[in-house]
Amino acid sequence: MPGTMLGMADASWAADPAGRPDPAGRIVVVGSGLAGLRTVEELRAQGYAGQLALIGAESRPPYDRPPLSKQLMAGAVDDTSLRTELESLGALVRLGERAERIGDGAVCTDRGEYPFDRLVIATGARPVALPGPGQQRFLRTLDDALALRETLLPGARLAIVGAGWIGAELATVAAARGCHVTVVEAGQAPLAVAMGAQIGALTVPWYASAGVDLVLGQAVESVQDGGLALAGGDWLAADVIVTAVGVRPEVSWVESSGIELDNGVAVDALLRTSRPGIYAIGDCAAFWSGRYQRRLRPEHWEVALRGPVVLAANLIGGSQRYDPVPYFWSEQFGRMLQYVGDHRNAERLVWRGSPDGDRWSACWLAGGRLAALLAVGLPRDLQQGRRLIESASLVDESRLADPAVPLRAAALE
Ligand code: FAD
Repeated sequence: MPGTMLGMADASWAADPAGRPDPAGRIVVVGSGLAGLRTVEELRAQGYAGQLALIGAESRPPYDRPPLSKQLMAGAVDDTSLRTELESLGALVRLGERAERIGDGAVCTDRGEYPFDRLVIATGARPVALPGPGQQRFLRTLDDALALRETLLPGARLAIVGAGWIGAELATVAAARGCHVTVVEAGQAPLAVAMGAQIGALTVPWYASAGVDLVLGQAVESVQDGGLALAGGDWLAADVIVTAVGVRPEVSWVESSGIELDNGVAVDALLRTSRPGIYAIGDCAAFWSGRYQRRLRPEHWEVALRGPVVLAANLIGGSQRYDPVPYFWSEQFGRMLQYVGDHRNAERLVWRGSPDGDRWSACWLAGGRLAALLAVGLPRDLQQGRRLIESASLVDESRLADPAVPLRAAALE
């Protein structure tokens, strides 16, 4: 739907010939992923009646990313569109159009200029590539996912670089589709960066039982035609290579704007950048958390879903703080993993249930309180743990460690 005009005349975005400001203002949202779409939806839901534009580089209407490595890759669905009635939002929707820079009060794209009173940067993140001339695939967009799925034929040799969340989810589905899957990971355990090597090591047997070869402590030097050149001189032959070694915030187009960047667009607790009238949200934004006393850029779906509620309020004059307890989930090797909190400053790790079993939770404690929780197959632990973290209650460690006792009963206050 490139350049679709929905609900207002295109010319109305041009400056008023008489130079009068629009009393309700003009808001431009750049990035038509979940965060951008939700911002537009929330602005309308919260009563914003002024002009609104949504500009997105992808030509597809907004869609959801988590199912790309799960249901879509497995063949259960072919489309993950977010079923919003874009027409009803009364916004100028420009798809297949890329913002190139922020000028003086206007966004400049590869097609034109959009003057704004307020601007939202919601351009997400892009995958990190490895060196080398061979074909490497990524799993970020719907087009990436559809093209990759075509290659996952029974017997195909698939090499996945990186045993993080995406690598593990893709390995799960590809093995089930009959591919010979090898996951090459530079760290000493899967998920080591996000969860720590102790937790990551617990997932190693999951790979073996799914028939996936996991090679740990092995850096990849480059991607070549027909395989991976491994550090140390070895070679891994592959028909399909997927690089899943993380993403970087998509802020290249913001660099010339003078806006402070710090692992993404740096925003305060109200989601404001260092330039008045310009805000950021979603995977591209590092927001100040009063709860954790540092900037967070979680790369989680829930931030893109719920952050816009606060952002929209602030765009129309509010002063709400966005300070969530981070949450995400992953589905891998037949298990549901759910994580809530932040364990960076945790002092101790307490288990609920045996980590050798199918259902267990890992609880990180700091100062006698629950700091973070990873629940494997235990959604109730997740829900109750989330409340314990939000309320910052002191907890009784022996009750916490007893899987027969509901987690909420571990609260001391
Ligand atoms: P994006 O979804 O990246 O959207 C940004 C949009 O901006 C893109 O469409 C991009 O093309 C566009 N854009 C970029 N630059 C420009 C420009 N210059 N001009 C105009 N447009 C531009 N999270 C979880 O919590 N749980 C999960 O299980 C999970 N699974 C995932 C599986 C996959 C395969 C992927 C890729 C992500 C997953 N995530 C998951 C993460 C989650 O999907 C993201 O956190 C979320 O999509 C971020 O939304 P966003 O709108 O900030 O960014």
